[in-house]
Amino acid sequence: MASQLDQLSAPARSFIAEDKGLLIGGAWVAPSDGAVEEVIDPSTSEIVGTVVHGGRADVDRAVAAARRAFEDGRWRQRTPAERARTLWRIADLIEQSAQLFAELEAIDGGKLFAGALGGEVPAAAETFRYYAGWCTKIAGETFEPSVPGLGLHGFTLLEPVGVAGLITPWNGPLVSAAWKLAPALAAGCACILKPAELTPLSTLRLGALVQEAGIPDGVVNIVPGSGPVAGAALAEHPGVDKISFTGSTQTARALLGAATSNMKKLSLELGGKSPVLIFDDAELDEAITGAAAAIFSNAGQVCVAGARVLAQRSVYDRVVQGLAEIAAGLTLGRALDPDAHMGPLISGDHRARVHARVAQGIGEGAVLVAGGECADNVLAGGGGYYYRPTVLVDAPPDSCVVREEIFGPVVVVAPFNDEADALALANDTAYGLAGSVWTGDGSRAQRMARGLRAGIVWINCHGIPDLAMPIGGYKQSGWGREHGFKGIEAYLEHKSVMQRL
Ligand code: NAD
Repeated sequence: MASQLDQLSAPARSFIAEDKGLLIGGAWVAPSDGAVEEVIDPSTSEIVGTVVHGGRADVDRAVAAARRAFEDGRWRQRTPAERARTLWRIADLIEQSAQLFAELEAIDGGKLFAGALGGEVPAAAETFRYYAGWCTKIAGETFEPSVPGLGLHGFTLLEPVGVAGLITPWNGPLVSAAWKLAPALAAGCACILKPAELTPLSTLRLGALVQEAGIPDGVVNIVPGSGPVAGAALAEHPGVDKISFTGSTQTARALLGAATSNMKKLSLELGGKSPVLIFDDAELDEAITGAAAAIFSNAGQVCVAGARVLAQRSVYDRVVQGLAEIAAGLTLGRALDPDAHMGPLISGDHRARVHARVAQGIGEGAVLVAGGECADNVLAGGGGYYYRPTVLVDAPPDSCVVREEIFGPVVVVAPFNDEADALALANDTAYGLAGSVWTGDGSRAQRMARGLRAGIVWINCHGIPDLAMPIGGYKQSGWGREHGFKGIEAYLEHKSVMQRL
């Protein structure tokens, strides 16, 4: 096994080695009923450190700290401009620690270092800047009420929803935390952030920066922990007003039941099975490269991954062949290996799930064109959770590889005849998170964008988020939107006020 630890910078090594604790009420504290869990590097399967997991009593403490911080107004009553300056400072601090954050994402989540350094870490910093800009622009409306016989002035106030529980997944730990924390803080909420159990490191480091930036104690609390314990405790907690959750549709179902305890407000960013539509008038090489990137980036562990490629029949064979060639040519390697095109999957369990789905799909009739196996020889001595980029064709419409989110580097390719056929196939899914259309015909692109039942559609590109553009799911891909003003609205209540003149 080739450890990556010795390739890390000294600050990253010492952060991983140090005792981290939970961030509650502005102090790093030991869990009262939690556990110590190993941190495993998915690139090597090596245990690189430990983190503490909070239990139910720790969630209680964190909620109490957040509640106190919210009620006494230490953050929400700061002026919007003061809140903006603090968020801006968080962004600066993230940028100053970019190398460290990218290393943590690489070692904890198996994310390619270069991608994290050039993509996700700057995106997290920009999220705080973007929402810093909104702080001074949160404003209600005025109305002229029509009640007869009374002179009335009506207006609305936008107020923070209260204590917000923020639950994030492992596939984009820092950026997911930023996408929730920045708008929640801009709105004036007090928060408890629970990172995924597999990837707590960058969120814990973010906690230290948030304090350094001057967020008052208790406004941001961080409780790493397991979903069924810490996550469920947050979801059930009567002291939490709002849950913003990103994760699987299956977990969201469990969370929904728990959240009814006090009828929490919910935002849900869930799974997908996003279609990539390639028409015969597309610039084909670009479309094939784009479709490959849409499914093989981050080893397919991306909510908007293009997991179903639909190609017009006249170019179908070329698309299948092109995807298979790219899949076969991708170099798998450790997250810190600059030559690696694709890193590992997050865990051995997840890899086993991905492989089981592929095997089931083949059992149900799909034909394997590329990949379809674990790659155990990426490292000289073995180790790491690598899976070969996989292309499947001829999968029956009801097979699991067409229906279910696999969350790995697995794409199913199918032919279509015309626009109507393409839309019928693309929309024949329980999900509705994203999709892309590849065509040289602008009017066709518009028709397809309007026809797709998905929260975001890209034309001649795929998977590019922008903070100004709302993102979220139709159907079982979620409730609500992140990014843009919608992202802050998720943390605001609208209060109507009527004043007799
Ligand atoms: P997951 O649902 O297993 O876990 C997500 C989070 O929920 C983790 O923090 C986990 O600890 C917590 N959790 C688990 N059980 C819980 C419970 N009973 N109550 C409360 N919290 C609980 O998802 P994952 O495997 O970490 O992430 C992958 C999934 O996330 C995929 O389905 C992917 O599509 C989705 N995702 C969606 C988006 C989006 O923006 N729509 C973005 C990224 C990931």
